[in-house]
Amino acid sequence: MVALVFSSAIGLAFPLVVRYLMDAAFVTRNLYNLNAIALGLLGLFAIKGVLNFFEVYLLGATGEQVIARLRKNLFSHFLDLSPGFFTERTSGELTSRLTSDCSTLQAVLGHQIAELLRQAMYLVGALTLLAFLHPQLMVTTAAVAPLVVFIAIAFGRYVRRKSTEVQDRIAEANAVAEEALGQIPIVQSFVREAWEAARYGARIDASLRAAISRAFARGLFFGILAFVAFGGIVVVLWQGGRLVLAGQITAGELVSFLLYAVQVAAAITAMASLWGSYQQAQGAARRVFDLLEQRPEIADPPEPAPIPTLEIPEIAFEDVSFRYGPEEPWALRGVTATLRQGEVVALVGPSGAGKSTFAALVLRFWDPERGRITWNGLDIRDVRLADLRGSIGFVPQEPTLFSGTVYENIAYGRTGATAEEVEEAARAAYAHEFIERLPNRYETLVGERGVRLSGGQRQRLAIARVVLKAPGILILDEATSSLDTESERLVEEALTTLMQGRTTLIIAHRLRTVLRADRLLVLEAGRIVEDGPHEELLVQDGLYARLYRGQLVLDPVA
Ligand code: ADP
Repeated sequence: MVALVFSSAIGLAFPLVVRYLMDAAFVTRNLYNLNAIALGLLGLFAIKGVLNFFEVYLLGATGEQVIARLRKNLFSHFLDLSPGFFTERTSGELTSRLTSDCSTLQAVLGHQIAELLRQAMYLVGALTLLAFLHPQLMVTTAAVAPLVVFIAIAFGRYVRRKSTEVQDRIAEANAVAEEALGQIPIVQSFVREAWEAARYGARIDASLRAAISRAFARGLFFGILAFVAFGGIVVVLWQGGRLVLAGQITAGELVSFLLYAVQVAAAITAMASLWGSYQQAQGAARRVFDLLEQRPEIADPPEPAPIPTLEIPEIAFEDVSFRYGPEEPWALRGVTATLRQGEVVALVGPSGAGKSTFAALVLRFWDPERGRITWNGLDIRDVRLADLRGSIGFVPQEPTLFSGTVYENIAYGRTGATAEEVEEAARAAYAHEFIERLPNRYETLVGERGVRLSGGQRQRLAIARVVLKAPGILILDEATSSLDTESERLVEEALTTLMQGRTTLIIAHRLRTVLRADRLLVLEAGRIVEDGPHEELLVQDGLYARLYRGQLVLDPVA
């Protein structure tokens, strides 16, 4: 800012010095003065050059730092938000907030703010000096200014609206692209390439139309503005020329007036253009800060209770009712159930009965609307999220891995795990052998989402990851797709090892799993309709017995 102020001051002094230089040439005809003034000007501009360097460098660096921090904060903030937020926003939209909106802000912070300040100083400075040197000419120059401000505001509003539209359409296009590229096998197997391309194209075309009308408005704006600004200069020149003819001012004075008038016109034009960018940035800032202000629905309690970590945990649902939104039907209604210490409980029931919802509530991805869930007697809303989730191992139905190595994917289970621990976990998950046969063993890259591994291998890595985490509670969402018998056996053995000494909840699809469970919870339309071991439920001859006999949801191959 200091550099900016002084370099602008030198810029403002320039016409004043030029006036003496011109008078030395035209009026006093003094070569010595001419040389001295020219040399002095050179010196001034050398100083201005140095000041410009500092100004551009420091402001640019500051802007970059602000944006880097903003991006980091925004990303960490996304990670803290609850699943409900992500069902409403696509990841494509969120990445476009991180990229294009942040870039727009970067341009403003990096140099446009400085430019705006500089031009404001030129405007005020030049007008002041004009007023001081010749009030008559100042009045003419100043008359142009309100006209320009009016044009700028009118066009600015329109340009801002179009800019927001461009950004929104691009965010939508990104969302489409990300979805299609992320599921490329589905797209290609359904021969939907052209359809996806058209879907993406439609969004891009919409953004293009908005961008073109923005370009049109900007063109019109600059055209009108250029005429108004330069028209003003002509008027000043004409008026000044008349004053020279009348002998009221010297040629040097006229040149300095002219230079000031040019400075005023240039400042107004530049500020008007910056105003447009500022409006654009305002839109971007609003979107970014809207996201930053979004509070996670699921958060830590203000005074978290300490957790008893030693015991094998017990989880109890006490009259829990839950729905995904005020308009949605109940996904769980009055569910009361206990997962006792070290017990293996299988959740069974038709699809849509609420099995995954039950598991999601234990992980506190959502909070119940009524009732409560306890963990060794403590309401799970009273403990820190990290404590709760840290003690739960979750093996999803179709485990997806992170791109990276096999090693990194297992080590993801626990921060700071040693190489020995990772290998031990891989052995326990019956994964060590196949890993040793991979081309680079533990350092083999798994490809995006683990596409280079087979389903059974991915599952065993996901299990190894949980073994490493060593949680007290296990939640297994059993895979519905069948693996070959050998993989199946290995996965099953890995799971058996994993379940020892832990309280386990399995969303079961296979008969073998159900038979192995200590107890079954049978869900139907969000209610627990039966609760007990397999044999007992068969005797009861209710929903479970029907499911069992008809193999309605349970996998017949098992
Ligand atoms: P299951 O795992 O037994 O197949 P879910 O727990 O997935 O059943 O679903 C229970 C009910 O909740 C279903 O009616 C389903 O449509 C609904 N549901 C699941 N997830 C959501 C969600 N994110 N938003 C709205 N409704 C949902």
